[in-house]
Amino acid sequence: WSSTIFPWTKKLEAKNKEVFGNHSFRPNQREVINATMSGHDVFVLMPTGGGKSLTYQLPALICPGITLVISPLVSLIQDQIMHLLQANIPAAYLSASMEWSEQQEILREIGTDYCRYKLLYVTPEKVAKSDLLLRHLEGLNSRQLLSRIVIDEAHCVSQWGHDFRPDYQKFKETPVLALTATATASVKEDVVQALGLENCIVFRQSFNRPNLWYSVIPKTKKCLDDIDKFIKENHFDECGIIYCLSRMDCEKVAEKLQECGHKAAFYHGNMDPPQRAFVQKQWSIDEINIICATVAFGMGINKPYVRFVIHHSLPKSIEGYHQECGRAGRDGQRSSCLLYYSYSDYIRVKHMISQSGIEQSPVTPGFNRNNMANPGRVLETNTENLLRMVSYCENGVDCRRFLQLLHFGEKFNPANCKKTCDNCSKNQSFIEKDVTMTAKQLVELVRMVRQQFSSSHILEVYRGSLSQFVKKHRHNNLSLHGAGKHLDKGEASRVLRHLVTEDILVEDVKKSDLYGSTSSILKVNDSKASSLFLGRQNVTLRFPCSV
Ligand code: ADP
Repeated sequence: WSSTIFPWTKKLEAKNKEVFGNHSFRPNQREVINATMSGHDVFVLMPTGGGKSLTYQLPALICPGITLVISPLVSLIQDQIMHLLQANIPAAYLSASMEWSEQQEILREIGTDYCRYKLLYVTPEKVAKSDLLLRHLEGLNSRQLLSRIVIDEAHCVSQWGHDFRPDYQKFKETPVLALTATATASVKEDVVQALGLENCIVFRQSFNRPNLWYSVIPKTKKCLDDIDKFIKENHFDECGIIYCLSRMDCEKVAEKLQECGHKAAFYHGNMDPPQRAFVQKQWSIDEINIICATVAFGMGINKPYVRFVIHHSLPKSIEGYHQECGRAGRDGQRSSCLLYYSYSDYIRVKHMISQSGIEQSPVTPGFNRNNMANPGRVLETNTENLLRMVSYCENGVDCRRFLQLLHFGEKFNPANCKKTCDNCSKNQSFIEKDVTMTAKQLVELVRMVRQQFSSSHILEVYRGSLSQFVKKHRHNNLSLHGAGKHLDKGEASRVLRHLVTEDILVEDVKKSDLYGSTSSILKVNDSKASSLFLGRQNVTLRFPCSV
């Protein structure tokens, strides 16, 4: 797909320069464009900042007709439209929050002049609920003027629900381009299944961001003083985002930073739209350097020189965390990612997750999931995601990059981290400890629960949890229930992650028959596990000397 002899190559390269001002393509951009323009369905996993927008905006310019872009967040859509109009590319959007008359006007324009817009952005609920829009799309389709359907933030697709899918299935002949920066095995399965993209071409690139420096810091009462000091010492007058859990936290943190002399402001869902637009504008013209925001801020925020992302509280998932950190250093320059962790924040987030139930998902910040079919499964997945985040924070030994990338199914050699994370740059000495017994027990336990449960559940049972979920499945009666009670906090979790890295345990996807939703479960790779049980392989892990 990297060929430069496609019929459109010359035009593509010219428009890339002329319209977008780019002198070359970033990794996979040309490949994705060639594949989608050849008429294939394409699934793209590209980290935030990788340049996903260009892969459909350039084809939209070159192909006849309209490209439909389905995107879940209005703020992201507005940001995109602003850039397109600045580049003189005719684009419009429809969302449920717009005046009805305004929406009708846009549809009327499309109905009378098919060439009026090159790109039409819509929210998923708009596709599901607007018959008028559907009729227009069918009209375009029958004239072969619906050139492509783009699904942005495609990891959200499984939550767009059943209303969305039948409508969308009407355009089976039109090429689909699904884009996401979130790519665990289960997310990919979900998307491919929900969109029926069985034979699609998949482009995937490393999620490693070598210019980001990661640290986890214990959160104390002095946290805000620490943040002030950190910024003054390392990034004074530079741009940064501070992610906070609640609206009140956003305001409190912003106020404190203002007092300390920083150009800071807060941004959250409780502000009225003009106030929010004002802050966003101030930020885009550098009148404000630091934004203290809930996760609603940032999807699609296009500022290449964000020098730091600080998590004032625990993120809800590793996917979310990776994406939020990804907003730093899009220009490739060194940038810092700090996470303040406390156990009490874990309790707070856990409470929020169980309270909000299906309203907020960690992998889709701010997206309303009212039409999600299976709330029980959602809560389970959200809890699993949170526990993984906690185990990431509590791990004071392993390379942060290694841990994050492992989550995305990517193997990373910690030697290549080159001291760009807190754990790799610690000046501590280690001892090697034989953990073969723990490893065997964990593998055995995965077999005992018939290879149908998540890693967090395995760890819970191993540590002897008597939670309702454990009891419901009678896993408290298993002989290995509580076998790891005596181990230090985090040790069993590290052994388990090690088994996954070594392919002895494999993360797999479980489908629920009823709703088609998926969750991550652990399975045993029998051929690899046998050497462990035949005594041919010992498992050792590094521990800090004090342990
Ligand atoms: P993503 O959606 O993957 O997070 P964007 O599409 O927003 O990324 O692109 C991130 C930034 O990279 C934008 O500022 C965009 O203009 C820039 N960019 C994209 N492609 C190229 C390219 N080929 N050359 C230079 N800059 C690019």
